[in-house]
Amino acid sequence: MPTQTSTQPIRKRCTGERCGREILIVQLTTGNKMPIDPEPTPEGRLRRLEDGRYEVLGAAAAEKARRAGERLWQSHFVGCPQGPQLRKGRRS
Ligand SMILES: [Zn+2]
Repeated sequence: MPTQTSTQPIRKRCTGERCGREILIVQLTTGNKMPIDPEPTPEGRLRRLEDGRYEVLGAAAAEKARRAGERLWQSHFVGCPQGPQLRKGRRS
């Protein structure tokens, strides 16, 4: 039996002091984890796969998916006031 993989999104709150919004920690197809906004957005570039992981699309692929009516999500860093700090992974 395969060990259980945690590909399902984890619901959390952003720890950014000036943020505190609800986010999802998701697993990307690259194996990395990424905080994303829980609702799909027209500017998104993340496609949700059936197993719960998310695939990062290039600009062209995202545009194509959008035109096809797909829902796409985006990284929480985009709209988070604490984004730049989080992105650097600084622990103060
Ligand atoms: Zn945030």
